[in-house]
Amino acid sequence: MRILVTGGAGFLGSHLCDRLVREGHEVVCVDNLFTGQKANIAHLLAHPNFEFVRHDVIDPFKFEVDQIYNLACPASPPHYQYNPIKTIKTSVMGAINCLGLAKRVRARILQASTSEVYGDPTVHPQPEAYWGNVNPIGRRSCYDEGKRCAETLCFDYHRENKVDIRVVRIFNTYGPRMHPHDGRVVSNFIVQALQGQDLTVYGDGQQTRSFCYVDDLIEGFVRFMAQTETVGPMNLGNPGEFTMLELAELTIKLVGGRSKIVHRPLPSDDPKQRQPDIGLARKVLGWEPRVPLEEGLGRTIAYFRGRV
Ligand code: NAD
Ligand code: UDP
Repeated sequence: MRILVTGGAGFLGSHLCDRLVREGHEVVCVDNLFTGQKANIAHLLAHPNFEFVRHDVIDPFKFEVDQIYNLACPASPPHYQYNPIKTIKTSVMGAINCLGLAKRVRARILQASTSEVYGDPTVHPQPEAYWGNVNPIGRRSCYDEGKRCAETLCFDYHRENKVDIRVVRIFNTYGPRMHPHDGRVVSNFIVQALQGQDLTVYGDGQQTRSFCYVDDLIEGFVRFMAQTETVGPMNLGNPGEFTMLELAELTIKLVGGRSKIVHRPLPSDDPKQRQPDIGLARKVLGWEPRVPLEEGLGRTIAYFRGRV
């Protein structure tokens, strides 16, 4: 197949491009390199089945493709809050442009949504049927509401124009090729520990997240796209739930060294807990994560060693 991956030079997108090229597909990677890096796809540039196009998904584009993965959007809080109006434009106009293209060329389209659509959840763990608890006017809203609107657009294009959608709600995912300075917790802690600095835990560190290793997530994407039983939304993530203090302690143990834990103010609207209910993915895709946190962190630390 010919497959378009928007955001293909980013962390998740570059792993997806690798996987699709490896399976023999032709891949068109569209990215404006805001948070992505050419280094993530450098090894693919000479491959005959891979094409990189520097383009902003806010502006319309046309490609003859069989499938679209719409991943273009900054994902870390410091990056998506850097220019919040641009972030919401990327989510909303990017989704409109991708869905319009999917409609014209009859391509199946996967929209990368997020556990952020659940906001600061009052239901735990979060099943897909939960509508969420999102602040519409806070610092995280440009991302959360942008992604919620993109989901709405997917389902309206599906109902009105029979566009063949797949909506995936991704929970915190980590691994090699995260940007070392993008501010997400796993990369922050690893870089700090490797540089012998203290690890910055925001708030009291009792807030939780559930961390999925990138290879597991990409396997879920491909399985979700391959099946026709459901269009989603579908949660993909690792149900193993950890406090940020536990993550900090584990990182220090695995990296070694003398880093300590220091506390910094908790950002506004920071969700207190997050754990995916993956019953739907288990049932429909026969999917569940295989890489436990300690093993995935070890692989990610190995990637960052020598780079920071
Ligand atoms: P990332 O920042 O590494 O990748 C995003 C990519 O999109 C980057 O290459 C960036 O340059 C590109 N991009 C941003 N704005 C663009 C625009 N206007 N036009 C073209 N390209 C643009 O982040 P990631 O972790 O790889 O996230 C990929 C997708 O998955 C995002 O849509 C994100 O919201 C979603 N997601 C990720 C996670 C996670 O834990 N990694 C969790 C939930 C959702
Ligand atoms: N966090 C932290 N120290 C850091 C970066 C983040 O304690 O250096 C916390 C953050 O407040 C949040 C959790 O780690 O509670 C996950 O943050 P991240 O930005 O990775 O993802 P998100 O909040 O979007 O799930």
